[in-house]
Amino acid sequence: MTIRKARATVCGVITLATIAVVTARQAPKSLVLDHARLIDGTGGAPIDDGRIVISGDRVTAAGPAATTSAPSGSELVDLTGKTVIPGLIDLHFHIENDPRMALRQLSNGITSFRDPGQWNEKFVELRRMVAADGLPGPRIFTTGPHIDGETPAYPADSVVARDPEEARRHAETSVAQGATALKIYFRLPFASAKVVIEVCNAHRIPCTAHLEILDARELIDAGLHGIEHITSFGISLVPRVQAEAYRQAVLRNNDARRDGRYRLFAEARLDSSEAMALYAVLRQRRPWVDPTLAVFERRADKPAEGVTADTAQMMTAGFERMKQLAHRISREGARVVMGGHTEVPFAGRGEAPWRELELLVDSGFTPLEAITAGTSTAAGFLYRDKDLGSLRAGFQADLVVLRDNPAASISAVRTVERVMVAGRWVDRKKYAGY
Ligand SMILES: [Zn+2]
Repeated sequence: MTIRKARATVCGVITLATIAVVTARQAPKSLVLDHARLIDGTGGAPIDDGRIVISGDRVTAAGPAATTSAPSGSELVDLTGKTVIPGLIDLHFHIENDPRMALRQLSNGITSFRDPGQWNEKFVELRRMVAADGLPGPRIFTTGPHIDGETPAYPADSVVARDPEEARRHAETSVAQGATALKIYFRLPFASAKVVIEVCNAHRIPCTAHLEILDARELIDAGLHGIEHITSFGISLVPRVQAEAYRQAVLRNNDARRDGRYRLFAEARLDSSEAMALYAVLRQRRPWVDPTLAVFERRADKPAEGVTADTAQMMTAGFERMKQLAHRISREGARVVMGGHTEVPFAGRGEAPWRELELLVDSGFTPLEAITAGTSTAAGFLYRDKDLGSLRAGFQADLVVLRDNPAASISAVRTVERVMVAGRWVDRKKYAGY
């Protein structure tokens, strides 16, 4: 029984001192995961015969089984033939009205997520379920609602800032209410966006943004830490006259981006002078970028309902260019991370992060690079690179045991056999059907 559960159920009969004694007697012996292939999330070569030593919620040692000592009396789990990777971190998960989805994703190996724009009230039910089941995860990171300008793209998920001062007040309020990042939305004017970045810097949290019609070069130059969606770069790739036409179309109607962003990308060139200017800023500032490719995936042979064959072709071409850009910007200094986007066209329920990793590999990343994007690089974007996202001594014991080797084929991330958060195994069967 956990301390939290004990406090919740004993009605004050058992004192805290009693609980402390019980906890001490049950102090966990070390757990040793033995002989698995170890992929530690840092991008280093897999260790074929690895050993991970876990004590309480932390990894205390990880390395080759031959040279990593196991404390005497440890509980041993033989994982010969399996692969262990760090728990995956989904940086673009929308809880909406579906808290069970977060637990389904947990059973698929996603041990942490960030919702990039939502009211705290939406997490109450998930937190209740997590507490009721005594679950150690998923780890929940929130941003508060989007900070958008007038006529917001998603009114229900936004606060509207009409000027920089209002933007500052919204930003401060979200931080005071627990946001560990803030998100700018694309109708927020530049001056207000700069103020939100300032608030983030003052509180040492990252500021991320869906740009679309804001200029990525300007915002990154102004200190923006991260960018959601590869489509945020669309207007940075094309001549100003074309960018402005797109901008005005979206300002007139938020829905103009639905087809318009694909057309923009289908026509864009990745070696245009505008693109080169973008890469120069990326090399200098090294922002995190969460491409969320899976939500933009389009296939000419499987068009969505009501989409003509011509439009489907155009969208597929646009999507191909989006993938090329995701890879290109990583070579130009952007720190690409993994965001599943919850519900996407070509992934089953709870499987969007897996699809995103596959699409990163389709785009030109190696499987190990894709895993790094979804683990240690993602932890960096949470400002948690000292204790999350990697299987090294001192880090949280969040991990996934896979049947197959994802370094050989990334789709092996789908072969999840066990999931651990904070040193405790998750009852996968319970949540797989959520
Ligand atoms: Zn989103």
